[in-house]
Amino acid sequence: MNGITIALSKGRIFDETLPLLAAAGIVPAENPETSRKLIIETNRPEVRLVIVRATDVPTYVQYGAADLGVAGKDVMIEHGGEGLYSPLDLNIAKCRMMVAVPEGFDYQNAVRQGNRLKVASKYTKMAREHFASKGVHIDLIKLYGSMELAPLAGLADAIVDLVSTGSTLKANKLVAVEDIMEISSRLVVNQASLKVKRETLQPIIDAFARAVER
Ligand code: ATP
Ligand code: MG
Repeated sequence: MNGITIALSKGRIFDETLPLLAAAGIVPAENPETSRKLIIETNRPEVRLVIVRATDVPTYVQYGAADLGVAGKDVMIEHGGEGLYSPLDLNIAKCRMMVAVPEGFDYQNAVRQGNRLKVASKYTKMAREHFASKGVHIDLIKLYGSMELAPLAGLADAIVDLVSTGSTLKANKLVAVEDIMEISSRLVVNQASLKVKRETLQPIIDAFARAVER
């Protein structure tokens, strides 16, 4: 087993990782957007990609089913990061974790009055920690997607979600009222792999690091 497996998710992470892979001399043989294959070979016979859900990347790397992976800081925080080495911020898939509410909702006033807030999010760890640090009591509702709908449908007062341009919020008459943190994607490395396959892995990690610097 001298082969290297890299776990990536489709969409922006795959797209924005392509130039970094290229810098390491790795070119995928297929595009996961058009191919249905979940294992994608590359120009380098010893390197393959596995295409997984964004939230599953840390799990594949943690168990050594992938040696490397690219995952958002949001995903890493929610996962917990056990057994994972995350040496490099790749500065890709950048966005912000934010609290958003319907345009007419006076959030600051609700907080000031000590109201209990109904908060919907896929990012339950981050949402819990954020409101706990503010001393705001919340009922947390776990969702798996389309968070913007929750306040409109009367499920929640506020959401905690990723925002980049803000156009999705705007289209749903929501406004961001609090900035929780800046998010970007990181390289994650299986620690045992790094020991056993350092000769192959280290040059890839170094090439990524140099490409990020540029
Ligand atoms: P799925 O769409 O399969 O449910 P997902 O929403 O977690 O999964 P993506 O939308 O591809 O997957 O997001 C992958 C990662 O990209 C996220 O974990 C986050 O770090 C980052 N990301 C999410 N939304 C944005 C955005 N609007 N702009 C920039 N980066 C984002
Ligand atoms: Mg998505």
